[in-house]
Amino acid sequence: MAWVTDWAPTADELNSCIDCGLCLPACPTFRLTGDESASPRGRIAAMRAVAGGRAPLDGRFAEIMDLCLQCRACETACPSLVPFGRMMEGARGEVAAHRPDAPTIGRRVLFGRLIGSRVLVALASAAVGLAQRAGLASVGSGPLRKAAALRPIPIPVPTAAGREWLPDGTPIGTVALLSGCVMDAWYSQTHIAVIQVLRTAGYRVVAPPNQTCCGALAAHEGAVYDAARLAERNAEAFEGYDRIVVDSAGCSAHMKGYRHWADGGAKVADRVVDANEFVAQLLTEGLLPVIEGDVPIGIQDPCHLRHAQRIVEAPRAILGAAGCVPIEIDPAGMCCGAAGAYQLTHPDVSDQLGRIKADQIAGAGVAVVASPNPGCEMQLRAHVPPDVEVVHPIEVYWDKIK
Ligand code: SF4
Ligand code: SF4
Repeated sequence: MAWVTDWAPTADELNSCIDCGLCLPACPTFRLTGDESASPRGRIAAMRAVAGGRAPLDGRFAEIMDLCLQCRACETACPSLVPFGRMMEGARGEVAAHRPDAPTIGRRVLFGRLIGSRVLVALASAAVGLAQRAGLASVGSGPLRKAAALRPIPIPVPTAAGREWLPDGTPIGTVALLSGCVMDAWYSQTHIAVIQVLRTAGYRVVAPPNQTCCGALAAHEGAVYDAARLAERNAEAFEGYDRIVVDSAGCSAHMKGYRHWADGGAKVADRVVDANEFVAQLLTEGLLPVIEGDVPIGIQDPCHLRHAQRIVEAPRAILGAAGCVPIEIDPAGMCCGAAGAYQLTHPDVSDQLGRIKADQIAGAGVAVVASPNPGCEMQLRAHVPPDVEVVHPIEVYWDKIK
């Protein structure tokens, strides 16, 4: 079997795994199943077998790849620096290329094509917003139950793209903001908090008009050509900005990997900062106020912040500057089960992980949990009791200093 796309796992990547198994205890799907084929080592073995022509790229291979959450906890556990997330994206691209009739084709069209259209996302979001208002979401199950757990969606749906915000005095610099696919519609309060905090520090904030979805969901679904197209478009849209601030951890992690996706991707990747790391840096530089206090607040690390970007201290520093004491929910940093579209495609596994996280939150006894990623926020809201609030850490900070 020959790989057919430019993103297929390379021989160097496959050989970087030394089969030590140290990643197994960190892998949520292995912990739930105890099955080697549901572990990072097992998945790499399956990739090697297909790459070496010893096994077919068939439905079983697709299933083994599809059960992975792409949480990248295996990367932080791995002593051999195996780039598992990139390999998994490449392996899923191969599944898509070899099995265009596979059941995942609908997801690839949704996350590769439709999600790049701001108009379609706004229309779909408005429909969800109407369902929320009509009470339809709260009586449903599956995706509708997730919709009920979202914050109320504003109608008309706002967009940050094409707008700019000035600080009160002379700007100390300009930063670009990723408006994202669903962040505008579903998490506009997060955008507002980030923009206001950056203005407070003295920055002019610009959301370039021609930007699009970062492409993370397309890449995770194996829609590699669409992921590359979206990355190319953003590389053009963000040309000329020294800093590109991204307030969704899944998106910032993906854009830091743009060198794999677009010709001009390396330039974007080097200029992307997750909003948490940027605001924490501004606090260190004394550009933002610090509030004293000891309000307990839970902290949930999104996998794509903790494992993919190795950012752990920044959200805790932001909460500390908001007069809060971060309470650790899960020091091991296991996936909450959201994992982008995974919560819809694998509801059983996703719900098991969501319940584990909800139990950890209940055990910590906190009334508010900070989580800087939209997918995690949706998943946590769907599993915690209604009196537990879930917010982005920068919203907590902005609320205290505004
Ligand atoms: S990305 Fe997560 S689910 Fe997938 S193999 Fe690694 S640890 Fe397991
Ligand atoms: S820890 Fe790294 S080297 Fe060891 S089995 Fe897992 S992926 Fe391979």
